[in-house]
Amino acid sequence: MASPTLTVIGLDAVTPLVLEPLRAAGAVPHLDRLLAQGAAGVLRSTTHPLTPQAWTTMFTGVGAGRHGIWDFHERDESGYGLRPVNGSYRREPAVWQRLSAAGRRVGVINVPFTWPADDVNGFALAGFDAYGRRDGYATPAGLLDELEQRFGPLVQDHAFPVTPQGGIDLGQVRRVAEQRVELTLWLAERFDPELLVAVFMAADHAQHLGWDEWERSGPASPLAQVYGILDEAVGALAGALGGDIMIVSDHGAGPLDGVVNLNAWLAEEGLLEYASATELMRGGQLQRMATARALALWRRLPLDFRTRAKQRLGGLRERSYELQNYSIVDFERTKAFAYGTFGNIVINVQGRERTGIVAPGAEYEAVRDAIAQRLRELRDPATGRQIVAAVHRREELFSGPQIERVPDLVVEFADYAWLGKGNLKSRTESIWDRVEIAGTDAAYVGSHRHEGIVALTGPSAAPGGLFASIEDVAPTIQYLLGEPIPESMEGRLIDAAIDPALLERRPPEYVAEDVPLASGIRAFADDEAGQVQDRLRGLGYIE
Ligand SMILES: [Zn+2]
Repeated sequence: MASPTLTVIGLDAVTPLVLEPLRAAGAVPHLDRLLAQGAAGVLRSTTHPLTPQAWTTMFTGVGAGRHGIWDFHERDESGYGLRPVNGSYRREPAVWQRLSAAGRRVGVINVPFTWPADDVNGFALAGFDAYGRRDGYATPAGLLDELEQRFGPLVQDHAFPVTPQGGIDLGQVRRVAEQRVELTLWLAERFDPELLVAVFMAADHAQHLGWDEWERSGPASPLAQVYGILDEAVGALAGALGGDIMIVSDHGAGPLDGVVNLNAWLAEEGLLEYASATELMRGGQLQRMATARALALWRRLPLDFRTRAKQRLGGLRERSYELQNYSIVDFERTKAFAYGTFGNIVINVQGRERTGIVAPGAEYEAVRDAIAQRLRELRDPATGRQIVAAVHRREELFSGPQIERVPDLVVEFADYAWLGKGNLKSRTESIWDRVEIAGTDAAYVGSHRHEGIVALTGPSAAPGGLFASIEDVAPTIQYLLGEPIPESMEGRLIDAAIDPALLERRPPEYVAEDVPLASGIRAFADDEAGQVQDRLRGLGYIE
C-alpha cells in the first residue's frame, strides 16, 4: 500500500467537547488510539472561527490580512453587495503549492475553499466551494471522469445532511465517508503523494443541527453516530497508510445561546436607517425583492412543474443573482452596517463605500469606538450575562495587503455562543433573531468555538499534550516533509509534537524566498453565483 510521508486528515469542526466524552465512552476507538499514541491537544482557530478563513489560514500559515479569505462572501465594489468567494480568492500559496514548486508530490482532497482545484504536482479535488460543479473540480484534467467510472457519481458534503423531517441523515454521512475513504486510498496508490490531505465536513453540519440532542442524549445522539462514522474513516485511512498521520479540525463547536440581529441593533442605536417603501419603489428595489422572493418559493416547487413552466419564464433563473442585488438599508443615511453571521460591522466611509457618509479619520474612529462600547454593554435578556466578549478593530488582529477584505469591526461574542447576523435584505423589529436553514423548518442550535483539535502520530511524533495555533500547521507540514519553513509564514513549527531526537538530527531550516501565485481570481459567473447563493442559503450562511 502507498505510504505518504505525511497524511493530514481534516475533520471539520471536530471539538474536544464531543470527542473527549466519546473517547471515555469507547465510542471512537480509532481516534482514541491515535490520540493516545501520539502528540494531541487543542488547535486554536482563527477569529472568527469560520470554515473559509480557518482552513485557508491552516494551509497557508498566514492570517486573513495576507491570504484574503474572510467569509463565504466578500463585499463587492459598491461596498454594499455581497459576492460568494472561492479558493481562487486566496492570495497566498497553500502548502501543497509550495511543495509542488519544490518538486514534491502532493494530493489534496476536498479541502474547503480550494475551487478551482489547484494545479499541483500530483492531484487535487476541490472543496465544498465547488458546490456540485464539475468544472474546475479536479486536476489533472480527466481525473473526475476516471473517478466516476470507478466509483460512480461522487457523493459530496457541501450541503447539510438533513432528512425531510429535519434530522441528521446518517445514511448520507456514511455514504460520503465510505466513498471518500475508498477514493483517497485509490488516489494514494495511483499518484503516490508525499503529502496527502483529505477533509470530511459532516461534524460541522451535524453540530449546527444536532447540538441540543447531543446535550440530551450524549453517546446515543445522532451527532455521536456522526463521530463514530468519522472514526471509522480515520481508522481505515490510518490503518492503510504508512508514515506520519496528522489529525486536525479547523475550529471547534458548542451550543448556540442566541442570535443578535446586528443591523436591527445598529438601527436602534441610530447608526443605520432602513429605506422606506417609497424609496424602495423609486429605485426599482421593491420589484427586485418581490422577484427574488418569488424565485425562492419557486425553488421549493416540484421539479417537473418547474421544467414545464420554465419555457414561459425565459431567463429568470439565470438572472437570479442580479435580481438578488437589492438592500433594505438606506445607505445614504447609514453610518454602519453588518453582514454575514459571525459579527462583521462595516463603517460606511466617504470615498470608500459608494455612498459613504462617515469621514475618514477622527469621525471613523469615533463611530468605531462608540459601537464597540455599546456592544460590550449588550446583555442576554434571559440571564443578564454580557453577550459580547470583545470588539476588535481589524488592525488589532490582522495585517497585510488584504486587510480591506476584513470588516472594520470584528465582534467576538462571549465563547462564540452567540452569532451576529447582518441582514441586508430583510428587516426585523427585534434585535433577537435566529439562523434558519432555507428549505427546512430547522434553525441553528449549535455554533463554532475557537478550540479545535490537533494530533500527530507516526515515526516523527513525540507523545504528549499540545496547544497550538491554526497557522502553525503549515510550517509543521513543511518541516515533516523535510522542506525549509518560509519566513513569511506567521505560524511556528509545533515542536512539542515532534520527536526530540529528530529535531536534534534535523533542526528546522528557514528560507526567505516566496513562491509567487500563478493564478488569478476566478469570480463566479452571475448564473453560477445565483446557484452558489442558493447553496449558502441552505447552510444558513446567507439570507
Ligand atoms: Zn469548519
